[in-house]
Amino acid sequence: STETIQNTSAASADEIQRMLDEKLALQRAAVEKEPYPELAVRKDRLQRALDATLKNEKRIVEATQADFGHRPELTVLLADLMFPVAALKHAIKNVDRWVRPEKRRADFPMNLLGAKAYVFYQPLGVVGIVAPWNLPFGLGYGPLAGVLAAGNRAMIKPSELTPATSQLMEDITAEVFDPDEVTVVQGGVDVASRFSALPFDHLIFTGSAPVARHVMRAAADNLTPVTLELGGKAPVIIAEGADLDVAVEKIVNYKMGNAGQACMGIDHVMVHHSDRDKFVEILKSKMAEFFPDYAHNPDVCDVFLPNQRNRLAGLVKDAAERGAKIDLIGEYDLEKLAETWKFPLALVIDPPQDAEVMKDEIFGPVLPIISYDTLETVVERVNSGERPLALYFLGGNKEQQEYLLRNTWSGGVTFDDIMLHALTQDLPFGGVGHSGMGRYGGHAGFKTFSNPKAVAHPPKVNLIKMNPPYNDKMSAMIRK
Ligand code: NAD
Repeated sequence: STETIQNTSAASADEIQRMLDEKLALQRAAVEKEPYPELAVRKDRLQRALDATLKNEKRIVEATQADFGHRPELTVLLADLMFPVAALKHAIKNVDRWVRPEKRRADFPMNLLGAKAYVFYQPLGVVGIVAPWNLPFGLGYGPLAGVLAAGNRAMIKPSELTPATSQLMEDITAEVFDPDEVTVVQGGVDVASRFSALPFDHLIFTGSAPVARHVMRAAADNLTPVTLELGGKAPVIIAEGADLDVAVEKIVNYKMGNAGQACMGIDHVMVHHSDRDKFVEILKSKMAEFFPDYAHNPDVCDVFLPNQRNRLAGLVKDAAERGAKIDLIGEYDLEKLAETWKFPLALVIDPPQDAEVMKDEIFGPVLPIISYDTLETVVERVNSGERPLALYFLGGNKEQQEYLLRNTWSGGVTFDDIMLHALTQDLPFGGVGHSGMGRYGGHAGFKTFSNPKAVAHPPKVNLIKMNPPYNDKMSAMIRK
């Protein structure tokens, strides 16, 4: 659209603000005209978002590939298409049920026989969506499922680091939505910070914890409620004596997908010390089998952002300097690691706990492998860091699973696999502590983006009157 400010540095702060205010005012006016969109309207909007995604599959693949350098088509389908498509389909199938007022027991303090109580789910109004670069289409369009099902309008701010995908999202959206239904605003930090300071009725931010602090502060000025979808150091814990071949296959697949640039991705592995060497050996042989000719292998995704490569190379260097054993799998020149787009998988074996690689979310193909003695020490270690978005436990028994469920904190858990809990549409998705707040996905998303209005009706015939003069009979009724 002509209003898009591509080169944000060329636009003055006032121009940016005016453009944002106008877009929001347009949506607000539409909310006032249609405060409670009928089911058919909501389904139609969901369907348009779904059709636009499916119809434009090829363009989405090409755009994210233009942004990412080499990104395998399957990765695009899994990361950027599958999530919004599944979420939108699920919403279309279930929105009839979700919008129904939810009857509650009329459990009033006094005996109000025949009284009625229910929750009426009302749209909030306009929801802002801020999306990151790593799943640039999926995380912009995915939240639309809950937002539109709940009857809201949406403004999406995709990442400036994936300009081709962000432009495509803007084009596709303008093709299928009126700007007062769903609109896309592009721009860098100057636009993003003003965007998150708009008086939205709700703001969902997917990104990093440091930026989330700015977003939450900006939203606080408007008392705009936020859902923060962040990341963290998701551990994979391998039970003592687990089938290592099975564990390794899953780990390799998920660590290498999108070059490890996934919020739910595997940050590090914790393996029993008696299994560690065997695990490393199997991991190396599986990597060689799955990714021969690494530097030219079409299934290896590029690490396209220079900052990412610098950071990852720094993590490897720091761990090496601190005495951790490093095994690099792939093709590389140590001196040129930060320039290597096909970043090797770097195994960092038993790094000291103060190594940089054990501090922040890794978000790339660097994999610390930490040996442990007992599950108790695993729990201690997990709980000593910030709460992760996900925790994975492979090959354990029921008792051990229950033990981890009760004694560790994470947004979600998958046993004997990776990421499965996030694929299931009817589970609430989100983090805890530094991995985020609030939930969306399926019914949870519908509720997050609704005002759960409490409604009560007295009994048709209400014999209880509380008019003065007050007497003991009334008091006794309350004390009952
Ligand atoms: P980021 O926080 O750098 O940026 C995310 C978005 O915030 C971008 O659109 C950016 O323009 C915007 N932004 C930048 N500065 C801002 C400011 N001052 N105020 C408001 N908005 C601002 O994150 P990223 O690097 O794009 O994405 C990677 C991070 O996202 C990782 O930490 C990852 O774990 C997390 N993530 C979480 C999920 C999830 O669902 N929980 C999914 C994917 C990624």
